[in-house]
Amino acid sequence: MQLENIKGIGPTTIKYLNELGIYEVQDLITYYPFRYEIIENSDIHKLNDGDKIVIGGIVENLPNIIHFNRKLNKMSFHLNTGTFITNVTIFNRAFLKSKLNIGSVVTVIGKYDQKHNSITASDIKFGLIENTLIEPIYHSSFKISSSKISKIIKLVFNKIKPLDYIPDLLVKKYHFIDKEKAVQIAHNPQNKNELEKALYRLKYEELFMYMMKINYLKKSKKKKDGLSRNVSYENVLEIINQLPFQLTKDQIKSVKNIYDDLISENRMNRLLQGDVGSGKTIVSFLALYINYLGGYQGALMAPTEILASQHFINFQKLFPDLNIVLLTGKLKAKEKKEAKKLIKSGKANVIIGTHALISEDVTYNNLGLVITDEQHRFGVAQRGNLKNKGITPDILYMSATPIPRTYALTLYGDMDISSIRTMPSGRKPVKTYVKTNKEIKDVLYMMLDQIKAHHQIYVIAPLIEESDKIDLEDVYKLEEKMKRAFGKVCNVGIMHGKMNAKEKEEVMNNFKENKIQILISTTVVEVGVDVANATMIVIFDSYRFGLSALHQLRGRVGRNDLDSYCILISDRETKRLEVLTKTNDGFKVSEEDFKLRGGGDIFGIRQSGDMNFKLADIKNDYDLLLKTKEDSENFIKSEEYNDKKYDYIKKIVIQSANLD
Ligand code: ADP
Ligand code: MG
Repeated sequence: MQLENIKGIGPTTIKYLNELGIYEVQDLITYYPFRYEIIENSDIHKLNDGDKIVIGGIVENLPNIIHFNRKLNKMSFHLNTGTFITNVTIFNRAFLKSKLNIGSVVTVIGKYDQKHNSITASDIKFGLIENTLIEPIYHSSFKISSSKISKIIKLVFNKIKPLDYIPDLLVKKYHFIDKEKAVQIAHNPQNKNELEKALYRLKYEELFMYMMKINYLKKSKKKKDGLSRNVSYENVLEIINQLPFQLTKDQIKSVKNIYDDLISENRMNRLLQGDVGSGKTIVSFLALYINYLGGYQGALMAPTEILASQHFINFQKLFPDLNIVLLTGKLKAKEKKEAKKLIKSGKANVIIGTHALISEDVTYNNLGLVITDEQHRFGVAQRGNLKNKGITPDILYMSATPIPRTYALTLYGDMDISSIRTMPSGRKPVKTYVKTNKEIKDVLYMMLDQIKAHHQIYVIAPLIEESDKIDLEDVYKLEEKMKRAFGKVCNVGIMHGKMNAKEKEEVMNNFKENKIQILISTTVVEVGVDVANATMIVIFDSYRFGLSALHQLRGRVGRNDLDSYCILISDRETKRLEVLTKTNDGFKVSEEDFKLRGGGDIFGIRQSGDMNFKLADIKNDYDLLLKTKEDSENFIKSEEYNDKKYDYIKKIVIQSANLD
């Protein structure tokens, strides 16, 4: 139904609505409030000057009106609340005068001026508010106000019957209220309880349909537009058997998943997920090797220079016969040119690098596989960019941020997931302690123990809010401190983002070769860096980090069978940090992180979500999302799914899936 057909709104209003993205009645109905204003009668004795006031009473005298000009007028009258009489002023409501008779019962909403015993009203409602008044607040514009939008939406109630996308069996299971009623309540709630129920139902529906779409995408994406390779698994096993260590069960499973993808005509779109230190790198190397055997170039993109060169060195060690090229932004112009030439000519079998890999002027010869390490660090656009460099290269993402599976599914849509849950054998959990700055002496003694045992230590300088800007002063101060404490017994080095690639590499190499025993660093070591002899990490001002980030940092140690330690120094939020002392399981940490950052009640301002949901929020409604995932999967498997009456659901799912 078109907006033109609604009685009571003219072309100008329609234009303003269009500007808000509202073109049809359907759009109006689903233009949900972004928050609700709860209005309760005020207790006058508890009010302070300037407070918001909501109070009912009787109009004592005929309102007095002053017209300043055609657009501006001021009306005032006395209100008798039963216990006192106050003066009420309101602007631009002269049109209410005819309804405001002496003795009319009204509720005044406004600001209380204690000194002058007066109220500057923003609204006057007729009658008393019994309990609570809930006012929907819409995203509005200068041209059209939230309350106007509210009024217009109420005009179209009953004009169309919104379709219900929740199958009957689920409506029954959860005792959901009727869809049409839920929509009306969302726009015109009478009490908190019914609003909560209505929103719950609408969010459920939204998430349910989203999960239906994901399920559909997963099923239908098996289009045969990928590269198939002729590689025997024997060859892969041969290489696996030559590795310096035995792969874990999950590593082997992941390699097999990837192998199957690579030899099939289906295009790979896979997330390799595994806790820090679980050994994703070797899996990605094997993927690159399989791809090479299949006759294609492969690229591995890492988020930092350090990590890129670490991968480069390690890959070379394992596969000395391959032609490997390093391409990072910090290379000299000449080196870059040379690297690009090798890539273009096809001489380069494997290209390892940073963002430089996707910079516009790199031309690949026959790019068959693209891997991004620490995937969460790259934006969606960047991911897309790299994809488009090849013909239709297979894609592997790696992430150590153990996103709960469902969350990953929604974030990455139709992606397949391989998980490495088993750690390489012999690993011990990292012992984690929270210490305050007052206890720094204890910390220094613990550090000394490690130094005496010929082990190495990372010290992480406080994180500065803006990730790029680092406070060098902090690093230098720490260096001074550490040198004072340990200068006589060991070497202290520093590393930070302002150093150039070469300097960083030098420091990192010195640390790897145990020429430096204490490495003070900003979070540039956060991801991926691998030095097995490091057994302790001390993180200053750790409250500034999210739990998952701390878990990542902690993953720099505990990379062998030695006892390892993580010391979180913080004078604040120590309770939150305690989570890390209790578990070494990245999945648990991220669930906690999730819970702590999520939450928030439905009456607060809705966060602008990660996904474009109208009502639901992926973080706050995470539990609901889990429910809809399970329910949608069961629904698809159920007999009921084949019932013709649900064809409209399938149709919408397919439609929206094809839009993305
Ligand atoms: P992440 O998954 O965090 O990227 P890495 O791939 O860096 O972890 O692996 C961590 C360390 O564990 C590396 O030193 C790697 O060589 C080693 N490693 C990986 N797999 C195994 C294994 N199956 N057995 C023993 N060590 C392994
Ligand atoms: Mg890694």
